[in-house]
Amino acid sequence: MTTFSYWEQQCLDSVDWVVVGAGLVGLQSARRIKETYPHQRVLVVDVHAMGGAASLRNAGFVCFGSAGEMLDEIDRTSESEAVMLYDKRFQGIQRLMNRYGAERLGFEATGGMEVFVAGEADEAERVLGSLGYLNELLKSIQGDGAFTACGTSHLGMHIYGKGVMAPAEGGIQTHLLYRAVRMDAIAVGVEIYEGMRVIDWLEDAQGVQVRMENGLVIRSERLLVCTNGFTKSLLPGVPVAPARGQVFVTESLGALPFKGIFHADKGYIYFRSLGDRVLIGGARNLDFQGEETTEMEVTAAFEDHLKHYVETVVMPGKIVNFEYGWSGIMGMDNNRNPIIGWHSDRVCLAVRMGGMGVALSSWVAEEVVRVIRGDEGI
Ligand SMILES: Cc1cc2nc3c(=O)[nH]c(=O)nc-3n(C[C@H](O)[C@H](O)[C@H](O)COP(=O)(O)OP(=O)(O)OC[C@H]3O[C@@H](n4cnc5c(N)ncnc54)[C@H](O)[C@@H]3O)c2cc1C
Repeated sequence: MTTFSYWEQQCLDSVDWVVVGAGLVGLQSARRIKETYPHQRVLVVDVHAMGGAASLRNAGFVCFGSAGEMLDEIDRTSESEAVMLYDKRFQGIQRLMNRYGAERLGFEATGGMEVFVAGEADEAERVLGSLGYLNELLKSIQGDGAFTACGTSHLGMHIYGKGVMAPAEGGIQTHLLYRAVRMDAIAVGVEIYEGMRVIDWLEDAQGVQVRMENGLVIRSERLLVCTNGFTKSLLPGVPVAPARGQVFVTESLGALPFKGIFHADKGYIYFRSLGDRVLIGGARNLDFQGEETTEMEVTAAFEDHLKHYVETVVMPGKIVNFEYGWSGIMGMDNNRNPIIGWHSDRVCLAVRMGGMGVALSSWVAEEVVRVIRGDEGI
């Protein structure tokens, strides 16, 4: 049986806030709590050695929702929900850029392009025909021209001749953002402990006793749950399901005929240039049910599908090999607006970041503090 020292337990006593989850949301929320209440002790715990089940495993797109995704989101929810979500993502990115600077995050302001495969002419024209409507909807957020029609023949891809450009989008280097956010949290005095799986907690008038799988207990005044796609194992009633995203990166391919980030198939497939490599991911719509899992594996079916996509659509005629393949877990529901609020007297939640939590995360951290302070809710 594992034993714990007196000191280990002392380390975990007299805590004001335990934040579960050292992803972008947990780390930025912890930092904002610590900045707001400098005398409080804020601890972040995470089961993974390098926290961030999605935050260090994403594609590094700075994006807010392609035109096709926006139309899809409006159909699935409503105009106002879709615009609200876009606004949160847009504001979130502004905050990240203002705090860390584009250069530090390796931001490439290439714009983001939505492309359509050759057989999707009708869908392409439907989306292109909606740009005026979407731009009007998004005018108050982004000014004129959130989306513009563009040609695609210069890309060398096997795609429809017209696409949609979102000029404000681009790509970052995911690890640079994660490191910046992590170092920032530590710099203000947030403590981070990894290898700690929270299994449950006991809440009473004295506080919250947060139990770890290894037997340790943290006594805290309050708890903030930022476990996104893993939330169901701690709080089965909260409407957020795991959604695995598989990502692959090719070997070096020499100079690429394109640069930037690309969305296809209503955002289900995404790819980008990564120096002289291509990163491609997604295709969850191949098997929604099978991908509703927290197993961080890649499968041959997805690898084959995405390899075929690169070889026939992105770089037609080129044989490619993937040098990296990984998966990460998103937190999804039909409604992709994040859940932020009190779950009980001492337990607060910030979960369900959908497919664009990089963009959302810093907006969410701000909202967490507003909720904690009791400002008008979200
Ligand atoms: C493949 C993929 C590609 C993506 N691409 C993009 C993109 O290009 N642009 C974009 O904006 N967004 C993208 N996203 C989404 C974005 O990465 C996420 O929405 C965001 O990182 C979520 O951050 P988070 O902190 O909420 O969650 P996470 O980063 O998942 O952090 C949650 C943490 O909680 C920990 N945890 C869970 N349960 C427990 C427990 N019981 N005890 C202790 N710790 C626990 C986990 O280990 C994890 O580290 C992508 C996601 C994936 C998976």
